[in-house]
Amino acid sequence: MDISIVVPLFNEDESLPHLAEWITRVMDENHFTYEVLMIDDGSKDHSWEVIERLAAENSCYKGVKFRRNYGKSAALNVGFSHAQGDVVITMDADLQDSPDEIPELYRMIKEEGYDLVSGWKKKRYDSKLAKNLPSKLFNATTRRMSGIKLHDFNCGLKAYRHDVVKSIEVYGEMHRYIPVIAKWAGFTKIGEKVVQHRKREFGTTKFGMNRFVNGYLDLISIMFISKFGKQPMHFFGFIGSFAFLLGFVAFVVVAIQKIAGVIYITKSAYFYLSMFFMLLGVLLFVTGFLAELVCRNSSTRNAYLIEKELLDK
Ligand code: UDP
Ligand code: MG
Repeated sequence: MDISIVVPLFNEDESLPHLAEWITRVMDENHFTYEVLMIDDGSKDHSWEVIERLAAENSCYKGVKFRRNYGKSAALNVGFSHAQGDVVITMDADLQDSPDEIPELYRMIKEEGYDLVSGWKKKRYDSKLAKNLPSKLFNATTRRMSGIKLHDFNCGLKAYRHDVVKSIEVYGEMHRYIPVIAKWAGFTKIGEKVVQHRKREFGTTKFGMNRFVNGYLDLISIMFISKFGKQPMHFFGFIGSFAFLLGFVAFVVVAIQKIAGVIYITKSAYFYLSMFFMLLGVLLFVTGFLAELVCRNSSTRNAYLIEKELLDK
């Protein structure tokens, strides 16, 4: 199969029929073998009925429905786990992303050898204040912190090589950082393509302003996990030793003061400093050990390392 198209959706029943018609037209014109995975993220409207109808009419259309609204990341993750195509394309259901971009994205992955190609909504049709400005800031920070030169990390329209989607896990609100997750998993050939963006015709946006606060917290966790996720002791042990050492120095100072008899030790600031830093150091060490235990039990501790293999069958 050439292409799997993964469409996460939440209350998009008006857009879906138009989107499906457009996708089918583009795929047939280009003679692709394909599947469309519609992941209904707990819609309360008639989205699922539309998906059932599409699947009955055309066997390329498939659907998964969540029991409740879990979020775009969960929907993408389920879509990725079912995708069979050589190239996997994700796109929003609200008709803001154009299916006409698919053939070129497919070509970039297949012929230019990209692992991931992200869309870039160079000209956006969203409200300026609520979306465009915060999103510039968001992109600039993510670019700095991750070292990936993309203009538009959060574009819903992206193309992936098959192995990429099988090797990454997207959860929480992490869909904004898929290029960062992919890079961390070892897929470094990441490109971008300017794509058309359109106004939302039906329904309303599902993301408010609070996404930017949560977004930054997620970026910090991603950077942390990618650096120390497999060896938490390297992080906690390092700052723990540092804190303990500070505490020890303070302790030596109090001890000297005590021996010299210059002061009641509880009147010395060093007494409190030594207590504080030594306790802090021990706590950090314990945290590091606990984190190591958690990693040891994680089922993914060694997963996804292998790119190719030549072994006896
Ligand atoms: N979406 C989803 N689950 C959610 C929120 C959104 O599957 O909890 C889908 C939504 O239906 C759309 C895509 O994610 O297909 C992008 O959402 P939206 O258009 O609201 O975001 P915006 O374009 O405003 O950033
Ligand atoms: Mg949208």
